[in-house]
Amino acid sequence: MSFIRRNKDEITDFDYIIVGAGSAGCVIARRLIDGTEASVLLLEAGGTDEGIASIANPSQWVENIGAAHDWNYTYSPSPHTDDRSIFLSRGKVLGGSGSTNALIWLRGNRTDFDDWAQAGNPGWDYDSVLPLFKRSEDWEDGASDYRGSSGPLHIERAKNLHPVATALIDHFRSTGSGREPAGPPDSGRLMFRREASLTRAQ
Ligand SMILES: Cc1cc2nc3c(=O)[nH]c(=O)nc-3n(C[C@H](O)[C@H](O)[C@H](O)COP(=O)(O)OP(=O)(O)OC[C@H]3O[C@@H](n4cnc5c(N)ncnc54)[C@H](O)[C@@H]3O)c2cc1C
Repeated sequence: MSFIRRNKDEITDFDYIIVGAGSAGCVIARRLIDGTEASVLLLEAGGTDEGIASIANPSQWVENIGAAHDWNYTYSPSPHTDDRSIFLSRGKVLGGSGSTNALIWLRGNRTDFDDWAQAGNPGWDYDSVLPLFKRSEDWEDGASDYRGSSGPLHIERAKNLHPVATALIDHFRSTGSGREPAGPPDSGRLMFRREASLTRAQ
């Protein structure tokens, strides 16, 4: 269990308690205390990420899978998976799966969001969530209709691509499948492309 205190005073009452200091929990905690006097208890089952090389160095992210800081879940066998038990990696560490993931920045497909809204979830359609995505981004090329430039998450294209990856991207571009990142980020078209990476916060 990890604790980060906002100040040295012992606090026993909290305005909010958040269980899980993963991607969502950390953002919610930050939003709740930014510019407010709110007190937040953020509980995390895993430990600190200090000293874990595969977290500090994103290119080693694969080593996080099955590590001691992974929940190492396994799905129950199901007829839908031909009765197989499938392994599911989830980060058990400060930052959660956001600390153990591959740092690929990929926005969901417009139709998925719109389907959720149509299923009775107002506010989840693509046009409604787009400003929120933009607000989170600090895109290396600056703001556009689809990208933000003043958010807390710096996003840039992956550097030093393997020649095979470059050839693959060039091929998709030549077939009209490759989209420029400033354009509509439809997931189907970007699936095989490591469009951008983030720098893990230290
Ligand atoms: C190996 C891997 C690679 C991935 N690659 C990418 C990628 O490249 N790009 C991308 O966009 N997404 C990727 N993802 C998915 C992405 O990381 C997750 O969708 C996202 O982090 C989920 O956020 P979350 O807040 O829902 O959960 P998490 O970030 O997993 O946070 C949940 C937190 O809750 C804690 N917790 C759970 N139970 C308790 C409890 N009872 N008490 C206290 N704490 C608890 C966990 O330890 C964890 O820290 C990847 C995921 C994994 C596992």
